[in-house]
Amino acid sequence: MPDGDITRQGRTLRSPRDLREAGLLRAEAEAGAVLVAERFAISVTGHVAGLIDRADPADPVARQYIPDAAELVTAPHEVDDPTADAPFTPVKGVVHRYPDRALLKPLLACPIYCRFCFRREVVGPDGGVLSEAELEAAMAWFEATPAIREVILTGGDPLMLSPRRLGAILARLAAMPHIETLRIHTRVPVADPGRVDGALLGALEVGKPVFVAVHANHAREFAPAAIAALERLARAGVPLLGQSVLLRGVNDSAEALEELFRAMLRARVTPYYLHALDPAPGTARFAVPDSEGLALLQSLRGRVPGHAIPCFVRELPQGGGKRPVTAS
Ligand SMILES: *Cc1c(COP(=O)(O)O)cnc(C)c1O
Ligand code: SF4
Repeated sequence: MPDGDITRQGRTLRSPRDLREAGLLRAEAEAGAVLVAERFAISVTGHVAGLIDRADPADPVARQYIPDAAELVTAPHEVDDPTADAPFTPVKGVVHRYPDRALLKPLLACPIYCRFCFRREVVGPDGGVLSEAELEAAMAWFEATPAIREVILTGGDPLMLSPRRLGAILARLAAMPHIETLRIHTRVPVADPGRVDGALLGALEVGKPVFVAVHANHAREFAPAAIAALERLARAGVPLLGQSVLLRGVNDSAEALEELFRAMLRARVTPYYLHALDPAPGTARFAVPDSEGLALLQSLRGRVPGHAIPCFVRELPQGGGKRPVTAS
């Protein structure tokens, strides 16, 4: 059976060689990328490869996904688990940091691997699918924890599950009387929009609200196929939120952020969070100082609709959770 490598939009690129042959990696950069690939997962869907301007060495879509030898250098402040999920894991696959909501990570595969990923030490194509027994243990934890009112499916990317398996997980959670809302954090609508099909939409119909938070960092990620996928979700009654990371060379200007948030609104997505970069290993080339991010967001006030402006947040170290970034 094909493993999903052949997407509707073209082949998914999974190695430095694939990327070079597709014209997305310079020949001189291949050796460095091979070393990066030994440590961190690589994937660029055919859809996203088609969004990249190969003539632009600073292409903001390419920069998010094409490996770079700079990833081999871990800066002194960078850590393996920057959001400190581990100490807040009561049972495998669950992260419980806030009283009323918890994360469920049913798998650690993504359609595409971001070079700045905060979970880059654990995400990957063959990593982290919860076994039936582990999923059962996670479900038992949710059943036994009535303070939880929202379950946030993340990973990895929950929309990489088969619709049947995703639907079973959502239905099981929705059947718990104390669970009021469900949320899915995903890059699938912009990275592999063809996956948002009738079977997937059916899996989201579980009788309780399922919010979808879409991760996108550049206006160009809202291509026609992505907009169509988001429209299918919206028509199915799914409220859409936007999540972005402030990234040097991708969206670190007022113009780029304005275009990104306006592209979200046009796609029916309400910008929710702009995350400051978490200090995961080998990500320093993406860092933007908080003071600069704050000034950028402040410059949007009055220039775009109020609902186009997300909350600028940073994860505190040692698992302190998300805090709005403020002038210090
Ligand atoms: C980010 C996060 C959430 C969700 O937080 P919201 O502010 O509700 O979006 C929940 N649990 C954990 C552990 C998180 O890291
Ligand atoms: S989609 Fe999310 S979890 Fe997956 S690689 Fe990108 S940032 Fe990491």
